[in-house]
This record gives sequence, C-alpha cells and structure tokens, in this order.
Amino acid sequence: MQGIPTNIKLLSFAKKGLIFSQTYTVKDFPRIKDIVSNVDDPVEVKLNFYIENNKIPCIEGNVKLDVALDCQRCLKEVKLHLNPAFKLAFIIHENQAEDLDPGFETILNASEEFSTIEFITDEVLISVPMIPMHSHECQSYKDESPVIKQKRKNPFAVLEQLKNSNKE
Ligand SMILES: [Zn+2]
Repeated sequence: MQGIPTNIKLLSFAKKGLIFSQTYTVKDFPRIKDIVSNVDDPVEVKLNFYIENNKIPCIEGNVKLDVALDCQRCLKEVKLHLNPAFKLAFIIHENQAEDLDPGFETILNASEEFSTIEFITDEVLISVPMIPMHSHECQSYKDESPVIKQKRKNPFAVLEQLKNSNKE
C-alpha cells in the first residue's frame, strides 16, 4: 500500500489496479474543516482502483472519521462517527450501466483526472447528517414543560386503572 497522490488519474490507476491507504487529518479537507470543530482528528482513507467489464474504471473505497458538529437540539458539540463506503463505476455512455453489477453507483462523463481531496470531501459530505443531534435526549429532556410531563404519566395511570378494575 502507498500514500494517495494529490490527483486521481482514473484510467491509469484503474489499469494498474492500484490500492492506496492514507491517514489524513480533518484540516486537510477545507470544505469539511469549515463545518466541524475537530480539525486535528484523523481521517482514514482506503481507495482501490480497478477495471470492470474490460473497460470501465472503478473506485471502491471507504473513509473513517469523526466529525464534531453543533447539535441542532441543544447547540452543544456532538461527535459523530462517519464511515462512508462507496463503489463507483465511471462510465462514458449510460448503456454501459446495464452490464454492471447493481452494487455500483455509476458516474457519467467524469474527468480523467481530479483532485483526491475534493473527491474524498464529496463522499464524506453526503454522509454528514443534515440535522446532527445527540443520540440521547439532550435539550428536550431538560426543557420538558410540566404539561408534557403530566401527559407522559398518563399511560401508567391508565395501566393502574386497568389493574384496579381487574381486581374488582
Ligand atoms: Zn444535543
């Protein structure tokens, strides 16, 4: 395994069957750095290039990183683990997609050469939740009004009534 070059040369890498692995830091990705607060955390990237159906260049890979975002419920930091994985086939004609395994996501008319950082950024950003939130009840739990608390007790009150009526 070797470090990932700055630019991806799609057909050339795919023909050689290159496999890359590299650990970046979040701040290496300007568009990710802009939206998170853990800019020094690692980003592990694996990319595997190959040719499918004798002519279609493909990239299979995965990225592992944590992103620290603002929870949209309590506005405190929430750290989420992201692990986007992708299996992309770069086709020239739409009909090339018909012969491909359905597990591929097809990309039409990509450039032959493109920025590795921008490519990885796109794959990461689509895996970032639109509304990041803590998995536990953060703000809403603390802010519950007495009225809602009263409502939440009701199911138990009903159960209590049922138990009592059964006894009679
Ligand atoms: Zn929260």
